[in-house]
Amino acid sequence: MKIGLDFDGVIANCGKLKSDVAKMLFDLDIPPHKFKREIVIGEGHLTAEQYLNLQMTIYETREYGFLMEPVAGVLECVPKLLALGHTILVVTSRGEAALKIAKEWSAEQGLTIDFVGLGYGVSKAEACRGLDVYIDDDLDKLKPLVGIVPHRYLFSWGYNMHVANGNIAKRMVSWDEFHNTIKSL
Ligand SMILES: [Mg+2]
Repeated sequence: MKIGLDFDGVIANCGKLKSDVAKMLFDLDIPPHKFKREIVIGEGHLTAEQYLNLQMTIYETREYGFLMEPVAGVLECVPKLLALGHTILVVTSRGEAALKIAKEWSAEQGLTIDFVGLGYGVSKAEACRGLDVYIDDDLDKLKPLVGIVPHRYLFSWGYNMHVANGNIAKRMVSWDEFHNTIKSL
């Protein structure tokens, strides 16, 4: 099968990275599950300007970008899926500079996977055409894939639990669950 993966929140643990970097930049203790724009700004943990600064710092500077940690299970499950003969394509909203960091970091982690970097605000629909499966931690990125990618999954985190996934995507709580689900398709 052709499997598409989002990068931040599926391969790299961006909630933890944002929490760690918020501590370094602003000396604030904000738990990872608060790191969704509407929550972290809406609840007043960060101003819009601080959040923008945080995002630029983690996505576009090597110093902070490489502090990413892998999502639990990804380093074991991706090689297993490849060994089963599936193909894997990362489709991310990262732009050029941020994409370069993601690719280098992935290679360092031993992940040999191809990337498409679309840039912020671009629909993933065209890049995902032809995929059988796609998983993202952002429901808004999955909505345009209805009718394009047959098997759509939302990687569940504390920061997206308030979102109603409906028929758009099924929730997956872990890489183990996602891996087992693909085997059962
Ligand atoms: Mg994401």
